[in-house]
Amino acid sequence: MRLVTFVHHGRTAIGAVIEEHIIDLGHIAPDMLTLIEKGVSGLAQVRTAVAAAPTGIPLHETTLLAPIPTPRRNIMCLGLNYAEHVKESYGARGQQAKLPDVPIIFTKATTAVSGPTAPIPYDQTITTELDWEVELAVIIGQAGKNIGPHEAMNFIFGYTVLNDISARDLQMRGKQYFKGKSLDGTCPMGPWIVTADELPQPHNLRLTCRVNGVTKQDSRTEFMIFNIPLTIAYLSGGMSLLPGDIIATGTPDGVGFARTPPEFLQPGDVLESEIEGIGTLRNPVIGDR
Ligand code: MG
Repeated sequence: MRLVTFVHHGRTAIGAVIEEHIIDLGHIAPDMLTLIEKGVSGLAQVRTAVAAAPTGIPLHETTLLAPIPTPRRNIMCLGLNYAEHVKESYGARGQQAKLPDVPIIFTKATTAVSGPTAPIPYDQTITTELDWEVELAVIIGQAGKNIGPHEAMNFIFGYTVLNDISARDLQMRGKQYFKGKSLDGTCPMGPWIVTADELPQPHNLRLTCRVNGVTKQDSRTEFMIFNIPLTIAYLSGGMSLLPGDIIATGTPDGVGFARTPPEFLQPGDVLESEIEGIGTLRNPVIGDR
């Protein structure tokens, strides 16, 4: 199933997308986090509602928000999780690449989250180096701690597309990534959550990123250094994961700062982030000052 958070005539609700319509699920849960917390019984209710619904709201009459518009806590992100991206990142600094021994984890503020068509604010007094990072995001379905890799996939609710937009000047200047990764509007997500049952092979997906129609990133999720089970096992070691937690699994090569010459987003650009089997984000960059 494809689960959305949508706005229709000023009302925000969750729904299931069936072809070009949305089946309203507002009677099952008021928001996506509540639905996820309901676990298998919530999904069973959704299936019953979808089967019984005569028709839905036309998608084009709605605005989609991020599937989880206000996450309970920060988005957890993997840095340097694709070998070719490790090479380009070190190479841009004239250094020899070294693959990470353990997952590199940082987070993005919840206030950075935005929808699949939301504008990306560009405030040149804050940053002039906004860069793209298309990523597969994993949505955790149930609480867990010390989850083993062999059981990790059972803890996944679903998947979505995320762009870990990064203010490189802020990111590189600080000793932590947090500020450079957390500007408002720099975590577009969606267009929906594809439930885990519909995406049994999340390590076999093409992911692409385009700026104004020009392909900048084009890779496959099979090239992750730390795959999804290893990542969940690592993160949950001694640290509880919660329903609705979002884990961004890292970006492949082709980011702007590592290009020759470096490239960054500009007002008027349109950023598209696509993952096979999930969908596409289409976010315009808008001057904000
Ligand atoms: Mg990233």
